[in-house]
This record gives sequence, C-alpha cells and structure tokens, in this order.
Amino acid sequence: MGVGDDGAILMAEDTARGTGPIVLLGPPGAGKGTQAKRIVEECGVPQISTGDLLRSHVKNETELGRLAKEFMGRGELVPDQLLYDIVAERLRAPDCERGFILDGFPRTAAQAGWLDAFLEHEFFDRSRPGKCLPFVIRIDVDYNELWLRLTGRRTCPLCGRIYNVHLQPPRVDELCDLDGSQLVTRNDDREEVIRERLLAYEQQTRPVAEYYQQKGRLVSVDGSLPVDQVAEQIFHAIERHARDRC
Ligand code: AMP
Repeated sequence: MGVGDDGAILMAEDTARGTGPIVLLGPPGAGKGTQAKRIVEECGVPQISTGDLLRSHVKNETELGRLAKEFMGRGELVPDQLLYDIVAERLRAPDCERGFILDGFPRTAAQAGWLDAFLEHEFFDRSRPGKCLPFVIRIDVDYNELWLRLTGRRTCPLCGRIYNVHLQPPRVDELCDLDGSQLVTRNDDREEVIRERLLAYEQQTRPVAEYYQQKGRLVSVDGSLPVDQVAEQIFHAIERHARDRC
C-alpha cells in the first residue's frame, strides 16, 4: 500500500471498522473504477458504480434500461430521478453497512444533495463507525491525457481485460494477449460520445466538487501519476480522514 508503519496500522484498524461512505469524483477516464477496486481490496467495502448498474439494466432490457439507454448512447447524463431508486436500493443492502465506494455518483449538484439527505435520513448514526456523510476524493487528470485514455480504451469481451491502444497496447493489434479475442470498444467510448461525456463532466459534475468543497469534505489527488502512486495518495487521504471521521 506504500504507507508508513503508523499508516498501515491505522488502515488495518480502519478496515475492521469500515471506511464510511467514500465518493470518487473525476472525469470519465480518470481511473475511478481502477482506484475503487484498490479500495475494495484494501478495505473490504463494496464498489457501487452507477454506470455499471445502468449498463446491467440496459442489458436486461428493463424499463429503466430502456429509458437510460438513449441518454447513455448520446454521452448525456441520465435524468437524476431515474438514478435515485437504484442507488437507494443498493445502499440499503447489508454489505454497505460498514461503508461503500461510490464511483460515478453523484454527478450533479442535485444528486449530491439527494445523497446527503438520504444518508442523513437512513444511514447517519454517530454511535456506529462507518455511518456518516461521504468523504469525497476527486481524481484530477488533464483533458489531453483523458482523451488518449478514452479513445484508446479497448476491452476483451471474453476475459474482461482492459487495454489502451495508445498507452498499453496489446502485443498484436486489437487482439487480447491472453486469449486472442478481438478487442471491442465500449459503445460510449466512441469519439463523438467521449466529447459529450467530457462536456457533461465540465458542466454538471464540477459543481458537485464545489458543493463538497464548501462543506470541507473534498480532497483532490493527482490522477496523472502511475496507478500505484494515485492509490497511495488516496490511502493517505482515507487514513487522514479516518482520524477525525464524521
Ligand atoms: P460511467 O460508466 O460512470 O462513465 O457511466 C456511463 C454513463 O451512464 C454516463 O455517461 C451516463 O449516461 C450514465 N450515468 C452513470 N452514472 C450516472 C449518474 N450518476 N447520473 C447520470 N447519469 C449517469
């Protein structure tokens, strides 16, 4: 994990207590999913990605999936009201008791307000560790780097391994190193859609960071560094937060 002895002890204690709610903010391609998985491994709390939840509704052709698909296909945000029920249902699950990592939610100031109200109402309990308002970590990466990361992203449909044709190419063009499958581009990683997704972040998600900053619950980390170093900054931030939680 790369933190000092004291830090390691603190993280171990924190793991037992749970992390409380953590929100990972950042533009598409900043590495929220990758870092969320690191926190899951380290702290044993679940990752909740609204993008994944919505994609599974689209795949299963539910009513919500049908409504969300149009917006997602254009790279636009799905209307706030469509998100609240699925997020509430997921956060009420027993595995969220000790904390959770939200990846991709909230994405508008209204969603941030809704989340605070929901947690105050259903989750907040000072007597129980892990039950408090979210601690927010924003991963910053500049626009040009994001562009390369998103336009180059390819996934193996068989094993799920992720490549980047600019930054981490497979050994043979567009084929998975592990099983030789033809790599695929996620539907919303097409260039015209990427442009919209980055615009949606600038216009709608930046105010979310301001909302949390005003409440003193936001820290920023440099997401352009290698994955391990970004993780290290994040664990330090969680560790500091754990000292005076809630
Ligand atoms: P992601 O995988 O997080 O990049 O999300 C993929 C797409 O799902 C986004 O481009 C949006 O269309 C939709 N989406 C995911 N999370 C949200 C959210 N919190 N609010 C609105 N739309 C969302």
